[in-house]
Amino acid sequence: MFSLKNVTKEYIHPGGNISALKNVSFSVNKGEVVCVLGKSGSGKSTLLRVLSGLEEVDSGSVKFKTKKHEYSYVSQAYTLWPHMTVIQNLTLAPSLFGPEKKEKIKKEALDLLHRFGLSDYRDTYPSDLSGGQRQRVAILRAIMTKPEILFLDEITSALDPELTKSVLDLIRALAKDGYTMVIVSHHMSFAMSVSNRVLFMKDGEIIADQDSASFFMSQKNKEIQSFILDIAKKDESIQVFKGIEQFQAYHIGLMRRLSEGSTVYVAGAVGDQWYKPMGEFYPIYEKMRLNKNITWKMVMYEEGETEKRLVQDNPTLNQFRKMPRSIQNPANYNVFGDTVITQIFEDEPTIIEVKNKNIAEAYLRFFEELWAVAN
Ligand code: ADP
Ligand code: MG
Repeated sequence: MFSLKNVTKEYIHPGGNISALKNVSFSVNKGEVVCVLGKSGSGKSTLLRVLSGLEEVDSGSVKFKTKKHEYSYVSQAYTLWPHMTVIQNLTLAPSLFGPEKKEKIKKEALDLLHRFGLSDYRDTYPSDLSGGQRQRVAILRAIMTKPEILFLDEITSALDPELTKSVLDLIRALAKDGYTMVIVSHHMSFAMSVSNRVLFMKDGEIIADQDSASFFMSQKNKEIQSFILDIAKKDESIQVFKGIEQFQAYHIGLMRRLSEGSTVYVAGAVGDQWYKPMGEFYPIYEKMRLNKNITWKMVMYEEGETEKRLVQDNPTLNQFRKMPRSIQNPANYNVFGDTVITQIFEDEPTIIEVKNKNIAEAYLRFFEELWAVAN
């Protein structure tokens, strides 16, 4: 859809110029949903403004495969026309640009409002809408000109958590519709569930460009790891348990809350490592599990003594398969219900628990594939 090559952008400051973008290169394919992460001041907004044509680059190139107006930009400062109603805001731009008939444009706008539960506000002025409604209308207005690409810059950062959800749900729906999107957002569970790729920026440079699963689940860069933990702590649907005591308490708690006869899917597990942090609590955990008939369905690439014994002792409740080395997964995660937990064993054992139906479903599909290819 578009590509950037060696893009550089400086801002003039009295104390010395700031390089907001340094030699940035990447390209995005049709249908990709790319999430841009990074600390404040790392250049994310500059990148989106450059992509949206709101800002000139100093050097390098930005090339689009689509026509000029086939992309739209929405920022956190929703920019609806205050003197126009919702429906007027939605129909203004397409009436100016497109050759389509007014009636047809109006019908499209009404259909969009209906689809996203905003029909009642068609004749309302922006000042009478809630922040979340305003932001949703701004996004719907952005898609009225039928862009192929959406650039969204922290569209929820000015909103309360309850209002945020409706906006993120709207973006999820658009991602399913197949829009190509580049999104700056600090909502980690949203980024995980909606994007398939993450760019991480630091001081004007892209220092990581990875698929979302490996970015979040098996991050090797220490600095990015701590960034992920920081944003995870702020996300309501994500909880972090750090240190040996929390690790043990979490697993015991898990056995308590799982219902009788349920199945836990475990993937990429690293053999005996899992059991070590449980220490003296492991036998308690195991006893609770067997009492509740909880099955472990596990694919792993290393089989330790513990696994061998487990399969021998309880073949029905322990279904293990060894995956080929070629598809090794460095992450260790469990899926149950609508929850995915990732376990990190370095330094202190850490658990990141993500409660999200979309993510859990995606991991279960991935798990089924691993299970199928494992011998
Ligand atoms: P982010 O969106 O990641 O917080 P920005 O792209 O807004 O980062 O900013 C990158 C750097 O460029 C920062 O140091 C910021 O202060 C500077 N900057 C951004 N916009 C301007 C501007 N219009 N004028 C001068 N400096 C700017
Ligand atoms: Mg910004």
